[in-house]
Amino acid sequence: MADTITKSHLKAWLHEFATLVNQNKGYLTELDSAIGDADHGANMSRGMSSVVDVLPELEESPIDQVFKKAGMTMVSRVGGASGPLYGTFFMKFGASADGAEELDASALAAALRAGFEGILARGKAEPGDKTMVDAMGPAIDAMDKAIADGESLADAARAAAEASRQGREATIQMLARKGRASYLGERSIGHQDPGATSTTYLFEALASSVDGV
Ligand code: ADP
Ligand code: MG
Repeated sequence: MADTITKSHLKAWLHEFATLVNQNKGYLTELDSAIGDADHGANMSRGMSSVVDVLPELEESPIDQVFKKAGMTMVSRVGGASGPLYGTFFMKFGASADGAEELDASALAAALRAGFEGILARGKAEPGDKTMVDAMGPAIDAMDKAIADGESLADAARAAAEASRQGREATIQMLARKGRASYLGERSIGHQDPGATSTTYLFEALASSVDGV
């Protein structure tokens, strides 16, 4: 498979993620008000708006530097759990792309998985704990499978977005075992996880930024 994504696709991904987060800021906050402290929309919007603000300074920077800076910006601008977690994701994604000018499908999948493993290492959540892990894990598995099946990069990204939405839906009946929602115990059941919801925007943004690659 010859298709690759360039730095400009990857920057478009960050822009689109910021756009989706901003468009759904109220919804993310509403979800977090049911099982958290009603700040996930504000956290993600503030963090990703700051990431978009620093992108023009990184015009000449390689992919790894762009994502390192995006990650550091999320960590420094967001006080909630989601800032360090998405920040770690971007930093590990960048480190995996170290030295690359563009990413083919397997390099993209490897960078996504490195980012995901960073989240697992930092947050110590397991699948089924009702967190962003439950949307991200299935998304990355779906991407790997699509690539192994010989699908195009754009189709693999679409499959990842669809799997992330299914993972998000599955969080509704889960009992939260990590983060603020875990304080609610059984009362967390029946509510969709805010972080799993923002993670679907991450993969939907990726699918739209690589569309037509
Ligand atoms: P806070 O919980 O500090 O207010 P946010 O509201 O911005 O931060 O983010 C909450 C989301 O973070 C949750 O919905 C969940 O998906 C995710 N989250 C919380 N703790 C963890 C963790 N340990 N591992 C993975 N994700 C987590
Ligand atoms: Mg919160």
